[in-house]
Amino acid sequence: MSGVIIHDERFKRLVFGHAKLEKLWTGGRWVEGPAYFPAGRYLIWSDIPNNRLMRFDETDGSVSVFREPSNNTNGNTTDRAGRLISCEHLARRVTRTEFDGSIHVLADSFEGKRLNSPNDVIEKSDGTIWFTDPTYGIDSDYEGAKAPSEIGGSWVYRLDPASGALEAVIKDRVQPNGLAFSPDETVLYVVDTGATHRPGLPVTIHAYPMVEGRAGEPRLFATCPEGFYDGFRVDSEGHIWTSAGTAVHCHASDGTLLGEIQIGEIVGNLCFGGPKRNRLYICGQTSLYALFVNARGAV
Ligand code: MG
Repeated sequence: MSGVIIHDERFKRLVFGHAKLEKLWTGGRWVEGPAYFPAGRYLIWSDIPNNRLMRFDETDGSVSVFREPSNNTNGNTTDRAGRLISCEHLARRVTRTEFDGSIHVLADSFEGKRLNSPNDVIEKSDGTIWFTDPTYGIDSDYEGAKAPSEIGGSWVYRLDPASGALEAVIKDRVQPNGLAFSPDETVLYVVDTGATHRPGLPVTIHAYPMVEGRAGEPRLFATCPEGFYDGFRVDSEGHIWTSAGTAVHCHASDGTLLGEIQIGEIVGNLCFGGPKRNRLYICGQTSLYALFVNARGAV
């Protein structure tokens, strides 16, 4: 397939030579946060500066506006019950859309101070919600509203929706961004895009071992060779599929770069979808792309 670069023989098994990268939609400004809903076979994603959530219907290929205004929503995910969890830049909060369509605020402050602008979110199998809180939504009016940080740090949080308890679990990153657990949840991967605020800092993925539910000492997992990592996902075999500049990079769980898929626009995030979780949905700058791969997203 054109645009696929093999860096390691192991990548040949993960892509199809005859599968084509499909451009499903274009017309966004900065698209992010894809989340797939298997019960309805649709994908929700964010068009952050345009202040809307979009919806792609996999059954007929149609695209429509799901929510506008969206409070400049960035990252989204689907929880185990099939509900939408969203990171809203403008309202500086994490929300859950309930089955009746109402919006429930899960977190908007920490120790009495407003969050910066939640960026990306995942759910752990125990029902806790983990999200990153860099400053991109308060750095300018383009993706939110310019404001100072009340907290004074960009951290990773763990939220227990049952009790409402919010805990800052990782404080050693400059601008934590995308995050994901390994399939067995023994490792938490976190992207750091701190180079936007500290020039010269490498853009990295760090791997935090999970020790008794806590994030332990991190190790450097990967450094982005060009451009930025942002959002990423892990497949059922533990491969990391990540945005990386204008491409999607696939890493083995040992960190080896196995291969890449060139998209041609800056990739913000991606997720697995389709009934078999083997269709990679890719948010690339202004457009939504998809590619069938020989891998399944981790459950
Ligand atoms: Mg992000």
